Amino acid sequence: MAEIKFVADVMVGKLARWLRVLGFDVIYSNVLDDDEIIRIAESENRIILTRDTGLSARRKQGGCLFIEDDNYRIQLRQVLDAFDLKEFKVFSRCLECNTPLRPADKEEVFEKVPPFVYLTQERFAACPSCGRVYWHGTHADEMLKRMPIQL
Ligand SMILES: [Zn+2]
Repeated sequence: MAEIKFVADVMVGKLARWLRVLGFDVIYSNVLDDDEIIRIAESENRIILTRDTGLSARRKQGGCLFIEDDNYRIQLRQVLDAFDLKEFKVFSRCLECNTPLRPADKEEVFEKVPPFVYLTQERFAACPSCGRVYWHGTHADEMLKRMPIQL
C-alpha cells in the first residue's frame, strides 16, 4: 500500500502537527501560498488538507479534503475517517520538519539532551535533517495522554 501523504494549509497547523505525531507525512508551513500548495500536491502526489473552499475547488478528484470544523480534535477524526487510517507509527517523524526519525545511540545524544533525560532514558531518536533529539519519556507520554482522539 502506498503511503498516504498530505500538504496542509495555514489554517490547520494543529491538525498537521497531530498527524505528524501519529507518523503521517504532512508538509506544513505558514509561508506556503495556495499556488505553492497546489504545486506540491500535484508534484508529490499529496492530498491537500484545507479550510479554504477556494483552494479545495482548485484541486478535485480526491486530491483534497475540505476540513469542515474549527476544532482540531474533530479535524483529526475527519481525516482518519475519510481515509480509513487505522495504523499509526507514533513518534516516528520529526514534529518540526516532518523528516522520518532514525534511532540514535546514547553517546551520540549526550550533549543534546538534559542531564536528567540522559540518565533516565535509554531509547533516543534523532532527526537527520534538523538534528532534534527525541526520547520516549514523560514528554511523549504526556502528549499521548493529550491525544485528541481515542486510537
Ligand atoms: Zn527535524
